[in-house]
Amino acid sequence: MIYLDNNATTPLHPKVKEVIKETLDYYSNPSSLYTNGRVIREKINNARKEIATFLNCKPNEIIFTSCGSESNNTVLKGVINNYLKDGNKNKVHIITSIIEHPSIINTLKSLESENVEVTYLNVDENGMVNIENLKKSIKKETVLISIMFANNEIGTIEPIEDISKIALENNILFHTDAVQAIGKVDIDLKKLKVDYLSLSGHKIYAPKGIGVIFEREGSIHIPPLINGGHQENGLRAGTENVIGIIALGEAFRMLKLEMKDEIKKVKELRELLESEIVKNIPDIKINGHPTMRLAGTLNVSFKKIEGESILLRLDFNKIAVSTGSACSSGSLDPSPVIMALGVSPEIAHSSIRFSLGRENTKEEILKTVEILKESVEFLRMMSPIK
Ligand code: PLP
Repeated sequence: MIYLDNNATTPLHPKVKEVIKETLDYYSNPSSLYTNGRVIREKINNARKEIATFLNCKPNEIIFTSCGSESNNTVLKGVINNYLKDGNKNKVHIITSIIEHPSIINTLKSLESENVEVTYLNVDENGMVNIENLKKSIKKETVLISIMFANNEIGTIEPIEDISKIALENNILFHTDAVQAIGKVDIDLKKLKVDYLSLSGHKIYAPKGIGVIFEREGSIHIPPLINGGHQENGLRAGTENVIGIIALGEAFRMLKLEMKDEIKKVKELRELLESEIVKNIPDIKINGHPTMRLAGTLNVSFKKIEGESILLRLDFNKIAVSTGSACSSGSLDPSPVIMALGVSPEIAHSSIRFSLGRENTKEEILKTVEILKESVEFLRMMSPIK
């Protein structure tokens, strides 16, 4: 299979796979006080250090969760609960963007009430949040800004550093969903003043079912979403996903060694894919920012064709792509992210996301363009829309 859906999930890194195999026999509970328990506790702490070194933060600022969605839920609900505790009736206001992942949008929708107001910022035609609009939307009740680092469907990288400065100047907490940015953009948490950051293992060649919240020391302490034992310093109860955590540590160790070369390679391949599509297929529109975009993400609308028809023809030829975020596929509505760029529903319906990863090759890209060209020509010939 030619796998071009790395923003949905990634295959395991071979080194991560090796580590998982070794870890399968570590069955002791890391909270147990006897030797085997302590050995596993140490391995968890080593993984925590590995991740902290990569992000340039302190190990005690890393909290393990089950996924990026849990990390996002914990931060948003935690911040709000913190403000509304003890029967506080003061209004709270949160600022986010309309192109966030459903784990942000749907969580905030569920929190909206008389006391909780949410501003969903529009984005420009490239998917970029406008800093002036952000500044204008700040109110005296604003307690949190949550803006994604990079978008999963179009790859646009948001001006996170500028936003972090605005949040700091206005004494507002700042969270960023960095699930798609980790391993693809340099992130140094000593320099970048975010209070909270979410990430997920399965987007960086680690297994599914492991995520992280970075919570900056000194920022408002978010209460746990899952109550129970004292794991993760009381911030996230539940016996640790030992295999997932150790695997994630290894994925970060490999990222540290390989990330630079990987970004370079993936960028070259995506540029090849993009230029070959532009050269060979007429009536297309590239969605996302021309330069401030993840190296491996290419979202294209093929006018007059439904994205799903292209996806199925590519699938028949053993090429895996997607028509939107994995979570919203199956929905008949056009992608809200593409619609947010100000295009028509037809253009949004005709979009395909190619997301490249460390295993792709030049041959795969050229083969994809060949099949894509034939598919688009065939589907346009058959299309009732002329
Ligand atoms: N945030 C973004 C930007 C994502 O792309 C995803 C997954 O697609 C998530 C959050 C959710 O991560 P997880 O699948 O680990 O819950």
